[in-house]
Amino acid sequence: MKVPSSDLLKRIIKQKLREKGEVETQRELGALVQKELKKINPKLRVTPERVRRVAVEIPHVEVVVETRSGKKLPKVCPVCSSELVPIYMKNLTGKKVKTGFRCSKCSYRGDMKRFVPMRYTFRILKG
Ligand SMILES: [Zn+2]
Repeated sequence: MKVPSSDLLKRIIKQKLREKGEVETQRELGALVQKELKKINPKLRVTPERVRRVAVEIPHVEVVVETRSGKKLPKVCPVCSSELVPIYMKNLTGKKVKTGFRCSKCSYRGDMKRFVPMRYTFRILKG
């Protein structure tokens, strides 16, 4: 078993997203990338989680994260492990209240109720 480099994974992810335009789940993108890796070297292995982590680092790839409710608020981004930035809003009395948080690096954002990543959509951005 061999671990593919991030650069190789980035190349394959971009290629696959250019072909498809959009891939609707992490599992599907993982399977597409794994299939390509197999053609290069049958020993190369990658998990869908690693594919997602590499995909969020590609500038021309948009990752849309759908969230569901959960019990424990995350301390770091559950998508890419980067720092979370709180989101505040003013309520009717003008008081600042924390309504959620977003990732400092990727497109992840959650509110105080729904913050557990449930589904990922991957898209290639033009240009
Ligand atoms: Zn993130």
